[in-house]
Amino acid sequence: MGAEQGVARPPAVVWDESVLAYDLGGDHPLNPVRLDLTVRLATALGVLDGVDPIAPAHATDPELERVHDPAYLAAVRAAPSTAWDLGHGLGTTDNPVFDRMHEASSLIVGGSLAAARQIASGAADRAVSIAGGLHHAMRDRAAGFCVYNDCAVAISWLLDNGFDRVAYVDTDVHHGDGVQAAFYDDPRVLTVSLHQSPLSLWPGTGRPAELGGPNAEGTAVNVALPPGTPDRGWLRAFHAVVPSLLTAFRPQVLVTQCGVDSHREDPLADLSLTVDGHRAIYRALRHLADTTANGKWLALGGGGYELVRVVPRSWTHLLATVLDRDVDPRVPLPASWISHVARTAPNWPLPTTMTEGADTSFAPWDGSGGDPVDEAVRATRRAVFPLHGLDPEDARD
Ligand SMILES: [Zn+2]
Repeated sequence: MGAEQGVARPPAVVWDESVLAYDLGGDHPLNPVRLDLTVRLATALGVLDGVDPIAPAHATDPELERVHDPAYLAAVRAAPSTAWDLGHGLGTTDNPVFDRMHEASSLIVGGSLAAARQIASGAADRAVSIAGGLHHAMRDRAAGFCVYNDCAVAISWLLDNGFDRVAYVDTDVHHGDGVQAAFYDDPRVLTVSLHQSPLSLWPGTGRPAELGGPNAEGTAVNVALPPGTPDRGWLRAFHAVVPSLLTAFRPQVLVTQCGVDSHREDPLADLSLTVDGHRAIYRALRHLADTTANGKWLALGGGGYELVRVVPRSWTHLLATVLDRDVDPRVPLPASWISHVARTAPNWPLPTTMTEGADTSFAPWDGSGGDPVDEAVRATRRAVFPLHGLDPEDARD
């Protein structure tokens, strides 16, 4: 790791328009326009000034086979020319087959790997790939709009390239089930997912009792939040669970899936966060990377289906946070961006600033509260804290 101690290395941004080819077509919710509008907004605000983005290369078969079966890769490759009986979760409403599906999907993985390589080589302490974060893909099947699991491939690669302890924090509204499954019995990887309760949201997993396999008990952590949880509840739960566990686990790198479908306007789920809440989450993740993971932070995108009003603003805040160029929430949206969007989506009510005016202050969990968020916190702490030598009832832990 060649760089001198104490010399700040600029964060790496992985981006190239070629990732927009991951397009599930038609009116599928995962429309790549959300990535395009994000990069346009970040650019117009100057967040990417002087940044030379790293263009991803396709992940190779051996790289994909870190977490996927060879037979599944073959099925994905063959899918566009296979008429029926695809299996492997392919050809469904959630995971429709599209032209050059393998190529587009392996490019997303290549982007997350490129970000991981920047950190492992010492070229950067932080790296971000907003096209990544496809956390639902399983060893042998597509799921939840995800063909290959770039998060899991990147973590697996980090484990073979200088990192023995990796923490993964997933802020998507859906349970990070594919990443949890990939490392369920691996004590080197702590997976933490905060999501809407599986009682009311797909994929129906992510209960506090899912703790990891027999060799890794306590390394799967799930916070199942009630529908309607607002910024202050989400942040209260996060701070009641995640910092203590990361401090105890002592990761060497923090990998985060930064899905923004927890927003109150997201069409696919029912949490009630705002763009301001997302900004607060990214700042908290950065602080945790700095204080518990030697400053090493690999940030990935994820879900987020309010394509115009939410994703571009929230992920511009993400890019800005990774780059230490935090955008003042009151900043107006650039006229050039507004007029581009007005042409692209003429009937969409457009935002005007980088804020929704939300107050993101919250009362820290003190062990006494009894509302449904407090109950969720208590369930997770009671299940997992003792396995890390922490006291679930003591709010100082
Ligand atoms: Zn999601």
